[in-house]
Amino acid sequence: MTGYFKFIENSSHPCKHTRIRFFDKNNNELRYIDVRSFGQMWWINKGLSINKIIKGLGSLGPEPFSKDFDANYLKKVISKRTKSIKAILLDQTIVAGIGNIYADESLYSAGISPFREARTIKKNELIKLKESIVTVLKKSIGSGGTTFSDFRDLEGENGNFGLQTNVYRRTGKECRKCGNLIERQKITGRSTHWCPKCQK
Ligand SMILES: [Zn+2]
Repeated sequence: MTGYFKFIENSSHPCKHTRIRFFDKNNNELRYIDVRSFGQMWWINKGLSINKIIKGLGSLGPEPFSKDFDANYLKKVISKRTKSIKAILLDQTIVAGIGNIYADESLYSAGISPFREARTIKKNELIKLKESIVTVLKKSIGSGGTTFSDFRDLEGENGNFGLQTNVYRRTGKECRKCGNLIERQKITGRSTHWCPKCQK
């Protein structure tokens, strides 16, 4: 969440949040800085199984950009799930790499309420949802990250100018489509933002 890499051109004293420093033969440095220490890193010796050492990696679902992730796949894995669609999108064993902000923005863009029971979502809605996820992620990557004030790219630039959100952190503000006020509520412990009028 708060971790980022930074190329160090002019050698300087590492800040107190520097967790790992990589040096190449020419003494160029890549620093991993993480204020809240949520990040994890592994050193895996040659010949060892990555999946055995990094627990959970083997159980990750497909990436949103992969061909394995489509409406058919979603339909299959959620057809009996009574969990909310928001909780499903955050479940890394179903799809890998969708964070809270992207889940909220994708559901808004697809017009689906985050509270809907996953199994009630129809095929045509899933097609739209998959498209929304890909579009939201592409927009965000293309513009250097999200609106998190502490997100930085490799050069240490703040990603603050990134994705313009429609619902995330817009509680009480007017929906850009209908003017209704954006609401916020927790779903499985995560802040969820949505427009009750646009999302059914
Ligand atoms: Zn709306």
